[in-house]
Amino acid sequence: MNEGLMTVAYIGATILFILSLGGLSHPETSRRGNLFGIIGMTIAVVATLLGPRITGVSNYANIMIGMAIGASLGVFAAIRVKMTQMPELVALMHSLVGLAACLVGFANFIDPTAHFTGAERTIHEVEIYIGILIGAVTFSGSVIAFGKLSGKIGGKPMLLPARHMLNLGLLVGVIVIGKWFLETETPEAGLAPLVLMTLISLAFGVHMVMAIGGADMPVVVSMLNSYSGWAASATGFMLSNDLLIVVGALVGSSGAILSYIMCRAMNRQFIAVIAGGFGTGGGTAPAAGGEAPQGEVQSISASETAEMLRSASNVIIVPGYGMAVAQAQHTVFEITTVLRAKGVNVRFGIHPVAGRMPGHMNVLLAEAKVPYDIVLEMDELNHDFPQTDVAMVIGANDIVNPAAQEDPNSPIAGMPVLEVWKAKTSIVMKRSMASGYAGVDNPLFYKENNRMLFGDAKKMLDEVLNSLRA
Ligand code: NDP
Repeated sequence: MNEGLMTVAYIGATILFILSLGGLSHPETSRRGNLFGIIGMTIAVVATLLGPRITGVSNYANIMIGMAIGASLGVFAAIRVKMTQMPELVALMHSLVGLAACLVGFANFIDPTAHFTGAERTIHEVEIYIGILIGAVTFSGSVIAFGKLSGKIGGKPMLLPARHMLNLGLLVGVIVIGKWFLETETPEAGLAPLVLMTLISLAFGVHMVMAIGGADMPVVVSMLNSYSGWAASATGFMLSNDLLIVVGALVGSSGAILSYIMCRAMNRQFIAVIAGGFGTGGGTAPAAGGEAPQGEVQSISASETAEMLRSASNVIIVPGYGMAVAQAQHTVFEITTVLRAKGVNVRFGIHPVAGRMPGHMNVLLAEAKVPYDIVLEMDELNHDFPQTDVAMVIGANDIVNPAAQEDPNSPIAGMPVLEVWKAKTSIVMKRSMASGYAGVDNPLFYKENNRMLFGDAKKMLDEVLNSLRA
């Protein structure tokens, strides 16, 4: 394939990636967006393999074997992973992008065929240095995020004394070592500062994510998503691959925009997040295993719930992580259909950080074929709760916690929440009194107008559906 054809293929792939991102921004067009992404990636891989710029490759068999192993692992993981484990898988994928950037950086640096001199050499070494830096932070940060999301590492933030000074010290260290690196004459001499900087970056990634409190994890996940884009972009610079630079920048900037949206949803300062100065804000650190419940709760049965829903005019359903765990979305859809057929106005309230990944609830509800026009964002319907007869909370906890508004010392203080307690009656469906991801007790459970429907969401909703149909 000649240079011109490859450029055309790269431009085509870039356009497809942009269309893909556009498509993925709405559930209705997301399948199409995904398809554009797949076609774009196929074109990109084929053009790169057949293009003239691929240097030093004499053995395509090795590449094919590598691709076959990678693809098999990917297919295996995609088939095996449960929907609720998706965020962990995504975090793990981000870590691979970071690792790839590090490996490409080192390979580039010790490449015996590369001969750069003067300014060109400095630029090449700066690319390598920054590429490995971003890659190492992304790698170790994502591995810790994987641990936190999968519950292998506790949600409690690790707050070292003077952690901001420590971060600043690491940053200064990286700059000083960078100067040392650029002043070295031979690759052998340059390896020592490069390895040292990699170790510092790895430590920084670990420290950054370990310091994040439970409820702030969504911001970290989207930030690591952005970092993985910049790591890919840096790899593009190292390999002089324009497409990788552009695609990395697309992922990096869309991840940054997502982080900004998440920050707004969590009421956190974007700049503070970028500087790593976030965590539990001014509040107390959440307890790892949750706090002791405070007060009496009133239980309700499935048939009483059905009765309440049947006689309501306005119902708002608030789904959360528990709906995903129980895979209850299809039953939720059937209940919605029955109620709407009886003339009940049913709507869904979606919190931006509900579940364990951005858009988690939208994906599940779309899968269950819930009409998009009754699925509303938190801001669109939060003021409607006072006119709502029943607010039904399905496996959600932190996102409906009034402590965010009422208790300035709460770890989630200031986080916008769905104000379900303002409805005439709220019903919370969950298995126990256990706390949510942030590990804080929820005063909603003890409110006068709240009822608890204890049990697995799928099982309880099946019973509610049966009672509604009876
Ligand atoms: P929460 O984690 O706050 O609460 C989920 C609740 O679901 C639990 O209290 C649990 O209670 C209940 N539950 C679990 N399994 C079942 C089941 N089978 N049937 C019924 N209930 C069940 O989830 P929310 O969606 O309310 O809030 C999301 C939280 O996750 C926030 O703190 C957010 O910051 C964080 N987060 C979000 C990310 C994102 O991108 N969206 C990423 C990372 C973290 P019980 O055990 O008693 O059943």
